[in-house]
Amino acid sequence: MDQYDVAIIGSGPGGYVAAIRCAQLGMKTAIIEKYSTLGGTCLNVGCIPSKAMLDSSHHYEDAINHFEEHGIEIPGEIKVNLEKMIGRKQSVVDQTTKGIQFLMDKNKITVFEGLGSFKDATHVSIKKNDGKTEEIEAKNIIIATGSKPSTLPFIKIDKERIITSTEALELKEVPKHMIVIGGGVIGLELGQVYKRLGADVTVVEFMDRIIPGMDAALSKELTKVMKKQKVKFALSHKVKSVERKGDKVIVKADDKKGQEVIFEGDYCLVAVGRKPYTEGLNADAAGVKLDDRGKVIVDEHLKTNVDNIYAVGDVIKGAMLAHKAEEEGTLVAELIAGQKPHIDYNLIPGVVYTWPEVAAVGKTEEELKEAGVDYKVGQFPMRALGRARASMDTDGFVKILADKKTDEVLGVHMIGARCADLITEAVTAMEFRASAEDISRMSHAHPTYAEAVKEAALAATGDRALHI
Ligand SMILES: Cc1cc2nc3c(=O)[nH]c(=O)nc-3n(C[C@H](O)[C@H](O)[C@H](O)COP(=O)(O)OP(=O)(O)OC[C@H]3O[C@@H](n4cnc5c(N)ncnc54)[C@H](O)[C@@H]3O)c2cc1C
Repeated sequence: MDQYDVAIIGSGPGGYVAAIRCAQLGMKTAIIEKYSTLGGTCLNVGCIPSKAMLDSSHHYEDAINHFEEHGIEIPGEIKVNLEKMIGRKQSVVDQTTKGIQFLMDKNKITVFEGLGSFKDATHVSIKKNDGKTEEIEAKNIIIATGSKPSTLPFIKIDKERIITSTEALELKEVPKHMIVIGGGVIGLELGQVYKRLGADVTVVEFMDRIIPGMDAALSKELTKVMKKQKVKFALSHKVKSVERKGDKVIVKADDKKGQEVIFEGDYCLVAVGRKPYTEGLNADAAGVKLDDRGKVIVDEHLKTNVDNIYAVGDVIKGAMLAHKAEEEGTLVAELIAGQKPHIDYNLIPGVVYTWPEVAAVGKTEEELKEAGVDYKVGQFPMRALGRARASMDTDGFVKILADKKTDEVLGVHMIGARCADLITEAVTAMEFRASAEDISRMSHAHPTYAEAVKEAALAATGDRALHI
């Protein structure tokens, strides 16, 4: 039987990053993945393909709605070739997953294809697709089995018209009317893709606002902008049934007054969140405890209740984000190697890749209020930037929350062009415990969207914004 220092079950961003770091630290490492491609949800049916579709649909929308203003005339009709668009998405996915295979080879990590399940705390059996089983022994095991789309108990996902994000990345036609259940990140990103491609899109959300975990100002601005883009919202609506009738899907919901509202579409995207995935893992055999929601229980070192078994990523508590999973993969590898790594979860940014992009790090205004922190706000609108006017991306703002007494930056919330990239400046600043004044005194290249960060910092240091 093959023996390893570390065996990792699951090859998503949590698992494959843990594997690379373990190998870098000199450990004999194996990774087990039940699918034939590596990279997990993120690379195969998550982050990467959704961004490929967002980019393609954005180009199309620009061509239809904005090229003329730029003085670009395209004779003839501009059409979508969805099959080709999805084909391009797939080739991006293929290149990326092959890249992970390359990294495994480069780092001499043994890859097993098959379903990994515990035999006991140091043995994993791997059931291969040809029905054969292999067993390996490992001193340490990292569970990185990720998550799957969740649904509501009364919804039957038929994968044709009542779909999850996975099927939404593979549609054969542009829906006429897509009903999106859930106004979170995934529903909004994929809803925007199909809106741009010509579908009517209605987002039905239980809460009274979209992106509920983020700062309320961001959800207000994103709602406003997406309404301008003709996405419809039914907020404070509790969906109670989803039924397929031929090519139609009927969604029934109660509004906040308890009145029934009926939505009729041809596709319904169920985007109500994701649930941890441990099916087939046989965690019991190793004595690993799960909580009542199926998450693997870990301590602050991401160790389970069993001494040599750790867990990272979507399968444990916390935000279901690829970069969070990656940090955790690195942390566990370094812990096993005897190092003393640390993750500051407050500084894991959250991003929505709609256009305009939404990004945030640190505390929201609501959280600061609730904690009774005395804070100040500096906000700067994108429309006041020359760069934003040049590209006609004038929606959005940057908002900096800083401690009233010490001026330390406590939270940064932004919506606008390229905010997914801009947020890194805020993370860096907060990592070094910068004050708003520190940011305001840094030179920001002109003209850039990043100038909005400097201006918001100037505003936070005492109404000193220069360009408004
Ligand atoms: C549409 C969509 C868009 C997203 N966009 C973003 C984004 O832009 N940014 C972001 O940060 N996050 C995004 N996410 C979330 C991100 O994909 C996840 O947070 C991330 O993939 C979690 O990584 P992980 O390693 O924990 O698990 P996963 O990526 O889910 O990987 C787990 C892997 O384990 C394998 N596995 C499970 N059980 C076994 C077993 N018993 N044996 C062998 N293999 C097993 C699975 O097949 C899978 O490959 C998105 C998700 C979706 C669905």
